[in-house]
Amino acid sequence: MSAANLLDFDLDGLAAFCEQLGEKRFRATQLFRWIHQRGATDFTQMSDLAKSLRSKLQSVATIQPLSIISEHVSADGTIKWLFDVGAGNAVESVYIPEDDRATLCISSQAGCAVGCRFCSTGHQGFSRNLTTGEIVAQLWHAEHSLRKRLGRTDRIVSNVVMMGMGEPLQNYSALVPALRIMLDDHGYGLSRRRVTVSTSGVVPMIERLKNDCPVALAVSLHAPNDALRDELVPLNRKYPIDELLRACSDYLTAAPRDFITFEYCMLDGVNDTDEHARQLIALVRNRISCKFNLIPFNPFPQSGLRRSNMDRVHAFAGILLDAGIVTTVRKTRGDDIDAACGQLAGEVQDRTNARDRMTRQPIPVTWVAGAARSTPPSN
Ligand code: SAH
Ligand code: SF4
Repeated sequence: MSAANLLDFDLDGLAAFCEQLGEKRFRATQLFRWIHQRGATDFTQMSDLAKSLRSKLQSVATIQPLSIISEHVSADGTIKWLFDVGAGNAVESVYIPEDDRATLCISSQAGCAVGCRFCSTGHQGFSRNLTTGEIVAQLWHAEHSLRKRLGRTDRIVSNVVMMGMGEPLQNYSALVPALRIMLDDHGYGLSRRRVTVSTSGVVPMIERLKNDCPVALAVSLHAPNDALRDELVPLNRKYPIDELLRACSDYLTAAPRDFITFEYCMLDGVNDTDEHARQLIALVRNRISCKFNLIPFNPFPQSGLRRSNMDRVHAFAGILLDAGIVTTVRKTRGDDIDAACGQLAGEVQDRTNARDRMTRQPIPVTWVAGAARSTPPSN
């Protein structure tokens, strides 16, 4: 039998594991604290556990961090790690320190099956779901390596956003225990308001998350009508905007925040006109408590899309603000290390799936006409 990776277990899972070894729940709590609060990987260090338990653990369990392919530190303090998850796949995490918080952006899958047009992860295709342990290991690594490096003992990461590679709600069974570990007072002790799941709109899973582990929710909207959203976020064909908004309103009945954040990637000439802004207002006004986060598109060669210019982004924001909708424009961070959205991992990944996908689904000419994209990703 292969050794269990203890990073895979939330506290209940670890308690069940310990019970199989004939140990009481409080032992699991001690062990959990060693792993997540102290960053231990070596059972022999765990001085308050009986020697017999330590040696038992050594034969049946491991604490398995991810191996690091690279670390890039930006001039603005942003750090991007690229982790090896085997079979030629890599995922990334980005640490973003600010004055009043430190956010870690985490990946949930190697690649992504949703295939959004403007997303470099989407262009890579789907490789596999990460395990709970692989999701948690990203936070474990950031928290403990930074504590060592900065000589600190207090908590460093204050916020987690599931906005790295992958669609978290298409990896639901691994996601939920990972969220519980982040929230657990014996784990990372993060507040529900400071853990955000970002989704392209997997409606049934939004409903389940509400019951299983409500945290802050961000929804990648990107378009004010179904025709355009169908093209940009193919999942919209399955779960159209009306159903999505209904799920969002319902989520708010249990959410730790009283609004949904809608992410909107600003694409030049595609979804960024005044008319699009007016349609958005009509869509959400009097219907859902929300906030917009406009994201300047981070271009990559195969997309054939361009970033809206910043005047356009601010004009668009102005229209939403005038209608009383709270709107922010995302600051770009770590530009010098390409710390946004799947760019670096894209360079090391096998893109076979993506090549198939892009060949099968030509980009609709309605909004790509005149853009530079012509060929699928080459590798
Ligand atoms: N799959 C989830 C979470 C990961 S993507 C989701 O789609 O919400 C996190 C955010 O980055 C999403 O809002 C996504 O639309 C945005 N994004 C993806 N590619 C981007 C790009 N090239 N430029 C700017 N934002 C991008
Ligand atoms: Fe997947 Fe999100 Fe990228 Fe869309 S934007 S392809 S859902 S990671």
